[in-house]
Amino acid sequence: MAQEDLFKKLVSHCKEYGFVFPSSEIYDGLSAVYDYGQNGVELKNNIKKYWWESMVLLNEEVVGLDSAIFMHPTIWKASGHVDAFNDPLIDNIESKKRYRADVLIEDKMAKYEDKIAKEVGKAAKRFGESFDEKQFKDTNPRVLANQEKLDKLHQRFKTALEDNNLAELKQIILDEEIACPISGSRNWTDVRQFNLMFSTEMGSMAESASTIYLRPETAQGIFVNYLNVQKSGRMKIPFGIAQIGKAFRNEIVARQFIFRMREFEQMELQYFVSPGSELDFFEQWKERRMLWHKSLGFGDENYRFHDHDKLAHYANAATDIEYKFPFGFKEVEGIHSRTDFDLGSHQKFSGKKIQYFDPEKNESYTPFVVETSIGVDRMFLQIISASYCEETITKDDGSTDQRVVLKLPPALAPVKLAVLPLTKKDGLPDKARGIMNELKFDLNCQYEEKDSIGKRYRRQDAIGTPYCITIDHQTLEDDTVTIRHRDSMKQDRVAIQSLREIILEKVSFRKLHEKIS
Ligand code: ATP
Repeated sequence: MAQEDLFKKLVSHCKEYGFVFPSSEIYDGLSAVYDYGQNGVELKNNIKKYWWESMVLLNEEVVGLDSAIFMHPTIWKASGHVDAFNDPLIDNIESKKRYRADVLIEDKMAKYEDKIAKEVGKAAKRFGESFDEKQFKDTNPRVLANQEKLDKLHQRFKTALEDNNLAELKQIILDEEIACPISGSRNWTDVRQFNLMFSTEMGSMAESASTIYLRPETAQGIFVNYLNVQKSGRMKIPFGIAQIGKAFRNEIVARQFIFRMREFEQMELQYFVSPGSELDFFEQWKERRMLWHKSLGFGDENYRFHDHDKLAHYANAATDIEYKFPFGFKEVEGIHSRTDFDLGSHQKFSGKKIQYFDPEKNESYTPFVVETSIGVDRMFLQIISASYCEETITKDDGSTDQRVVLKLPPALAPVKLAVLPLTKKDGLPDKARGIMNELKFDLNCQYEEKDSIGKRYRRQDAIGTPYCITIDHQTLEDDTVTIRHRDSMKQDRVAIQSLREIILEKVSFRKLHEKIS
């Protein structure tokens, strides 16, 4: 299936099965804002649980926080967001569509990478077992030509970003003949900076009201609570503070479903370390976060690190974890070594001493920070993209059928168990309700008696339910049910008494956590 078609299918699947709806849909929607439906909210909560537990439960030295969205406006001055939280914006004069200049250039670089990957793929097929990828890349003229163009462009782009040279960004777009994907035109405006923060007024009287910002990241809530947590928790460096919460960015381009939203949720860890040790911890957290992603089992080859071309004003090292979405490798998580920039700056702006007395070194210092920052919504899209499968299945009578199945890791699935009486008669529904009433305390169960059993299985496949149990006439005689496994579609007969234990073991987060600890 073409990757664009796959993406369209994901979007409509999310809507049809109650995962994600456009916000304010009956009023024609609100751009880049989405609501999560009955299954979406469960999946989202499970993603957050996987992250939260992997941070706070598994690491003695990591504690949680829930800070307010509204904060003192000076915080955003101190953090540098008022002056520097900008994206370079460019408009196409023909289509009147707005783009991020850096993203247009990155997409062009991805095109060169694709061309190289295609050549390599073709050659790998042609040469079979004897294919030597490195040798091919080092000698094939088409690969070498594209690699040279890519390297040149990369270097030029990097320098333009480092120098904040907006005219050069435009010149690159012109020289690379980048056209608007909508109009095909190469008629562009100049590039200008655009601040992504939303502001609002706090206070009822116009004269006393002050401008405050909707936070564009959750991290600052952690920094300004550093002293509170360190003191009240008697935390010793190195230690971390984890937080999950909403963030808001007035994104220039918002055309990729929940990949880029104006209201979204972040899961951030700030890990406080002694000066000089930050790059070691940066490397450690890179590996740990990659393992967290790969433990979900979606294929190690679909992840990669991508180091930043331009370091943010606060960072001395930064990388992204990228996943291969239907529209290419894109960032899911950022890992940044933020130095002592934020704590140092809050110290300056607030006039409060923000220091740590290190009993081992017998000295006080401003801690350095390593941050891991991941978007819940982007992670949600990653999981849906990776789980969505269309399969042709052969039925008992030899005929074939199609099914759409979300192969979600069982711990993340919205519904863990579907309870299905074979028919609506003979006391089967009562028996099924009895089982459900027992299991609902521990598992998210769904009861369904409408339609044929085959149709009900399909509906559960489409929302990723890992297990379905069917209550039939034999159940009334010997208290057993059939349990059907989503991926293999195999069925076993098990005693009702052992159901709770069997399913709890399979859907527990413990399995995921064991892989990363
Ligand atoms: P991008 O380059 O895609 O704009 P970023 O580098 O600005 O992202 P960070 O500031 O590092 O992103 O934010 C950390 C994480 O928060 C990202 O990896 C992403 O998962 C998520 N995120 C950031 N912006 C958005 C958004 N507009 N919508 C959804 N998730 C977002």
